Amino acid sequence: MITNKTSIGILFLLLIISCTSTKKVVFSDPVDTTTKHIANQIKKTYSILDAGVYASNEFDGARLNGFEKLNDSTALVIIHPENAPINMSPYYAFKTWSNRPKPFYFKFQYPKWNKHRYIPKLKIENEWRTIDSTAVFKEDSIVTIKLNLSTAPITVAAQEVNSSTDVKNWYTNLTKGKQDVVTIKSVGKSKLGKNLPVIEIVKGETKGKDLIVLITRQHPPEVTGYFAFQSFLETILTDNNLTRDFLKKYHIIAFPIMNPDGVDMGHWRHNASGIDLNRDWGVYNQPEIKKVVSFINTTLRKNKAKLILGLDFHSTWYDVFYTNTDRENTNYPNFEAKWFKSLEENIPDYEVNEASSNSNKPTSKGWFLSGQNAVGITYEIGDDTPRDFIKLKGKVSATEMMKILVGSK
Ligand SMILES: [Zn+2]
Repeated sequence: MITNKTSIGILFLLLIISCTSTKKVVFSDPVDTTTKHIANQIKKTYSILDAGVYASNEFDGARLNGFEKLNDSTALVIIHPENAPINMSPYYAFKTWSNRPKPFYFKFQYPKWNKHRYIPKLKIENEWRTIDSTAVFKEDSIVTIKLNLSTAPITVAAQEVNSSTDVKNWYTNLTKGKQDVVTIKSVGKSKLGKNLPVIEIVKGETKGKDLIVLITRQHPPEVTGYFAFQSFLETILTDNNLTRDFLKKYHIIAFPIMNPDGVDMGHWRHNASGIDLNRDWGVYNQPEIKKVVSFINTTLRKNKAKLILGLDFHSTWYDVFYTNTDRENTNYPNFEAKWFKSLEENIPDYEVNEASSNSNKPTSKGWFLSGQNAVGITYEIGDDTPRDFIKLKGKVSATEMMKILVGSK
């Protein structure tokens, strides 16, 4: 009997713990994030036999829904989203080649309600570059590009492809030999069973140390936000006096790929359940958000710590920081003002673009504020922001954040 009572007691305790670790947050403008139908992309190599031209979507991060001959020198590249309604983020990625060297034209076709957005990036001989503007032709909003094909495949993509394997290779290399401050863990699996990794960074004890959460790739095509996240994390993991002081005082948990299914399926925005994950931070219908929230809450409880700052790295048309208007009573009041001032002082000719409002919808930024009383910021990088500037911005923003938080600013 005692054993039974004890086990019931333990079960009850576990139930309480699992409930509190995913405590729901109420938003005034909730969004239905229950699973929706998605159209799966057929994976194949398309061929235009008489021209000897081929196109393939048989790799992670690809998106190509059709490839047809339009005339002797032009192919129609057909691109669809995973489901609709959906944001205007018409992502595409495919490999193309020919059986002998020749120039060839590719005309993009999207659903009628959508327009071309991303300037093509080309991966040639393992190097990404932006397509030469003289090879892009625009008629109304229809875009055609010219490529010089050969037997060596060129990858053509809306943004530089960074699949879940690429992300894993990046953080594995980055953290090599840094076991004194880094632990890589998994918080669980995505809907399709892909790993949801977390990079924990701290020096010594975690008890009582305030927590900072970094996240990215909720939205698959938003690779420029991921570039800023990479530079941000690389800066925190560079060994120097500032980072040593910082990691003695704070505990970072960084989620480098929140939506691995969507990323590998070449989705425009959603996860494998057809849902915008950045609208699921109220009730956690999707496993990706539920597991991340549960991990954050368990970490806080275990360490008797509070969350002070959450940064969520995304991309949009231009660089902007989306902030919460409420900040006086957060766990780090006025962080935003100090940080933005430091960025302007340390990045040449740079002016911060901030747009402030409290989130009525269940976004991560809203969850950081309403669920944790933390500073929540959506760190948006423009689609076309120069890649070397993104690197600089990621580096300076990490450095200045650390300076503020260790109190040297
Ligand atoms: Zn986004």
